[in-house]
Amino acid sequence: MNEQTPCPFGERRYNAWNDHVKTRYGGRVQKVSVAAGFTCPNRDGLLGKGGCTFCNNASFTPGYLTGSQSITGQLDAGLDFLRRRYPGTQRYMAYFQSYSNTYGEFERLRACYEEALAHPAISGLAIGTRPDCLPDAVLDYLAELSRSQIIELEIGVESCNDAVLAHVNRGHSFAASVDAIERAAQRGLDVTAHLLLGLPGESTDSMLDGARRLSGLPIHALKIHQLQVVRGTLLARDWQRNPEAVPLLGEEECISLLADFIERLSPRILLQRVGSEVPPSQKLAPDWNLRLSELAPRITAELARRGSWQGCRYSAT
Ligand code: SF4
Repeated sequence: MNEQTPCPFGERRYNAWNDHVKTRYGGRVQKVSVAAGFTCPNRDGLLGKGGCTFCNNASFTPGYLTGSQSITGQLDAGLDFLRRRYPGTQRYMAYFQSYSNTYGEFERLRACYEEALAHPAISGLAIGTRPDCLPDAVLDYLAELSRSQIIELEIGVESCNDAVLAHVNRGHSFAASVDAIERAAQRGLDVTAHLLLGLPGESTDSMLDGARRLSGLPIHALKIHQLQVVRGTLLARDWQRNPEAVPLLGEEECISLLADFIERLSPRILLQRVGSEVPPSQKLAPDWNLRLSELAPRITAELARRGSWQGCRYSAT
C-alpha cells in the first residue's frame, strides 16, 4: 500500500454501488422482486435434484410474493410495499431473483421480461441466474434490451474454487462463470457477480485469491454474502448432525476477512452488497448480534482503522 496515496472513495473507503447509482440515475433505484415460476437445472434433474447445499429460495423471497399472482400483480404489490418503506426512490427495476431466471424456453423468458418492462413504474430488469444458463441467444436479446432499459445480469459465481463448488453441489466450475461473464461483457451487459464467503472447504487464502481472480474479470459489480445456515437445506442437515463440520464466520472474523478481501479487489468493481441477512425464522446459524445495516459501517471503520481502502492491495499483474 502506498501510504502517500489518499483513499479515492471518501469516507466509505470502498466503491459503493449506492453512490454510483445516485450519480448515474439521479437518485435511488430500488429492485422489486418478482417470482416468475422458473426452476433451475440443479433442482429439476438436468444437473441434479437436491440443489446447492446452501440454497433455500424461501430465505430471500419477500413475504409479499404469493407466487400465484401475475408478474404485473407482483410488481404492484412490491411497489406498494417499497414506496411506503423507501419514499423518494427515483426508479424501480423488476428483480427476477429466485431460482435461475434465464433457464427456460426463450419465448417464455421474453414474455416474462416484457411483461415486467411494460409496467409503467419499471425502468429495467435485474436478472439473477447461473453461469451455465446463459446461451448466446439470451445474451443477445438482453444486450438489445439494454440499449433502451437498465439491464443488470446477476451471475452466481459463489466461489472461485472448483473443489468448493463441487463440495456444495453447485454443478458448474469457475471456468463456466468466467465464460458467461466474458460473453455477457463482450455484448456490453453490466454483470454483477454473486459470491458467498465462508463456504465449506474455503480457506482464507482461497477466498482472498478469489478477490484477485474476480478482479481480472469484466464484472461491473459484486455482491458478497456471508454463509448462513438456512432451514431446509442440505447444509442445515450437515450442521445439525455436526456443527463442527460446518465452520461459520464469526462477526469479527467476517469483518476482518471482508476488509482483507476489499483491499485486494480491483477499485473498478462496484460493491453492491457486503453481506446479507436471512429472516430469523429461516436461519439456524451463525448467531450474530450484528444487524445487516451495521455491517457496512463496521467494514468502513475497519478499513479506516487500517488506513486502507478498496484496491489498496490490488495488483493488476
Ligand atoms: S442456488 Fe441457484 S442454482 Fe443453486 S439450487 Fe438454488 S436456485 Fe438452483
